[in-house]
Amino acid sequence: MPNTRFSAVKESYGRNPIPIEEKGRRSDLFGINVFNERKMLQYLTKDALDNVKGAIFSGKKIDRKIADQVAEAIKGWAISMGATHYTHWFQPLTGATAEKHDAFFDLLTDGTALEKFGGGQLVQQEPDASSFPSGGIRNTFEARGYTAWDPTSPAFIYGTTLCIPTVFVSYTGEALDNKAPLLRALHAVDEAATGVARYFDKNVSKVNATLGWEQEYFLIDKALAHSRPDLILTGRTLIGNAAAKGQQLDDHYFGVIPSRVLSFMSDLEKECTKLGIPVKTRHNEVAPNQFELAPVFEEANLAVDHNLLLMDVMDKMADKHHFKVLFHEKPFAGINGSGKHNNWSLSTDKGVNLLSPGSTPMKNLQFLTFFINTIKAVDTYEELLRSSIASASNDHRLGANEAPPAIFSIFIGSQLTSVLDELEGVSQGKLSPEEKTELKLNVVGKIPEILLDNTDRNRTSPFAFTGNKFEMRGVGAKTNCAKPMTILNTIVAKQLKDFKKEVDVLIDKKNLKKDEAIFNVLREYIKASKRIRFDGDGYSKDWETEAKRRKLSHNRNTPDALNVLTSKESLALFKSMKVMSEIEVSARQEVELETYIMHVQIEGRVYNELIYNHIIPTAVAYQNKLIANVTGLKEIYGAAHKSFSEGQLTMIEEIAEHLVEIKKGTDAMTEARKKANALMDNKKKANAYCNNVKPYFNEIRKHCDKLERLIEDQLWPLTKYRELLFIK
Ligand code: ADP
Ligand code: MG
Repeated sequence: MPNTRFSAVKESYGRNPIPIEEKGRRSDLFGINVFNERKMLQYLTKDALDNVKGAIFSGKKIDRKIADQVAEAIKGWAISMGATHYTHWFQPLTGATAEKHDAFFDLLTDGTALEKFGGGQLVQQEPDASSFPSGGIRNTFEARGYTAWDPTSPAFIYGTTLCIPTVFVSYTGEALDNKAPLLRALHAVDEAATGVARYFDKNVSKVNATLGWEQEYFLIDKALAHSRPDLILTGRTLIGNAAAKGQQLDDHYFGVIPSRVLSFMSDLEKECTKLGIPVKTRHNEVAPNQFELAPVFEEANLAVDHNLLLMDVMDKMADKHHFKVLFHEKPFAGINGSGKHNNWSLSTDKGVNLLSPGSTPMKNLQFLTFFINTIKAVDTYEELLRSSIASASNDHRLGANEAPPAIFSIFIGSQLTSVLDELEGVSQGKLSPEEKTELKLNVVGKIPEILLDNTDRNRTSPFAFTGNKFEMRGVGAKTNCAKPMTILNTIVAKQLKDFKKEVDVLIDKKNLKKDEAIFNVLREYIKASKRIRFDGDGYSKDWETEAKRRKLSHNRNTPDALNVLTSKESLALFKSMKVMSEIEVSARQEVELETYIMHVQIEGRVYNELIYNHIIPTAVAYQNKLIANVTGLKEIYGAAHKSFSEGQLTMIEEIAEHLVEIKKGTDAMTEARKKANALMDNKKKANAYCNNVKPYFNEIRKHCDKLERLIEDQLWPLTKYRELLFIK
């Protein structure tokens, strides 16, 4: 039986970059596979176009007759582009995307074609949803769910399929996906932020949340990745001795992109460009074979869709280039994992970034208003924000040195800290003319228009202000950005609504001028939200103690982090912002817990397989080889053999000791799994997996990795770290 590891290594050595045709300008390709505004102009009547635009910009319903017209237009365009099928593209709670393909035409028995794609098929469809997780919603209420068109995200053609972005809801109206709550949160933040933005510009009629994600990933040769059952089944290596060289030399980060990878990236970027994903930067990351791709930021809903689409395209493109792309947050122990920074801001329909300092005191007061309200929102709901990035895989990364800790805090830098310190001293009630001038000239007026150096270089802050946007850094590489974006926009919406109420009371009841009222409320917010601000080293033990003193939450694992979702305060928040009902929140919590349980359960099973089918047989084989050697030496040299076989004898014993521990650990872990499986309540079960099953993993791994160091290379069955990470 040939060793899969060696055939994989051999296969990977023979690879060459796939040449990519680079014809024409990228800008000519941009969005050619998207039914965007330009195509709408071309294919739709003015009436239909206005209707669709109304839906996009102000959330108006699309008339059914118009839907027929739009469907006809989209179909005409799609078929002219070579599309044969269409699908409703949606985001089930599992985190990825799902689709169900239908042909545009059905052949009748007499051979004539029956047209299938009309307005009805465009706006609504009923996928066989029974196998998607619903956290019990469909069981309790209505057995079916349906997908409904989201006109704010344009349809696109991928391969030969027209994809129509949709929400996925139950017949009783509960969201069964990640998109519907996001759209509601974006609507809430639009409403709240528009109200506040009008203090500064009466003409603002809409505020969009913007999102620019930065996707990190690993690229591993396909044959090598497939030779590792753990990588394929769990997304990470469950065992594996660290390579003699890791990332300590930083030579990958500063190095040139390997040619096979470059060819993959060019191909990927070309495909993304056609799909209207505005990819911009690419570079190596810190760990070997780790890379990053970032687009220009977009409206948050579109950016979320584009990130999900990108992950799908990457998967397929990697396959074409004989790679496997890994989005797991910690695929390899001992080197950096992968995250997905979420850069977030608010932008008006007049194109003004509300988190960007401006050239006049009024613009800066606007900036400070949104800046301080965001800080206050994160301070109030830090634990909820933490819950939005919780997953079994991200648990390995958060707090693991290169990534931000699981404690939420905000970095704002020294310049803005001193501005807030000054504002804290603003007088109560009316301000004297002198104070107003002083504020104008020396506080608000002193905020530099561009805070270029306002980047947190040590990267330990989970939520950093970086000049004209906040950057949420704990988001996992695999995570659907809809989750953190739903929470962030909901909490900011709630905060801005409360703010406006308070300011209006001061204006109406206390006779304060608008700016006086704003200064008064902001002053109190600055005082109230101090504990969330932290510019120091997020990894230090001192910070952990300090954070505890500040009563900041520190949920290290997913089951703990998810608790807050259904707290009284959270439920009230979701309800008041019309983002999720109690049923929807509980369902989500259930699904997250189930997903967590399944992940850890699968890892446990894969450990069993690796240990019993690979590690133990290999260790025994090598031990036998040593035993045969010692027996042979004894035969030849009799009693004198001892001085020659001392080394082998110790190794035989060491192997035996590790085997004993490995078997003990694996069997105890299996027992713990059985006990966990017997629990009916998902919270208890998730806790059992987290606290009683998972701790065995590292214990088992430690001994396996020691064996890997001891055993003859030729016998070792699992592709090693140095091969996975350093073969280009
Ligand atoms: P750097 O690369 O130095 O971290 P950039 O300004 O290039 O900083 O931003 C990094 C990411 O932030 C990019 O994905 C970019 O699109 C995004 N970004 C920039 N401005 C905004 C904004 N106003 N809203 C949301 N994302 C933004
Ligand atoms: Mg970043």
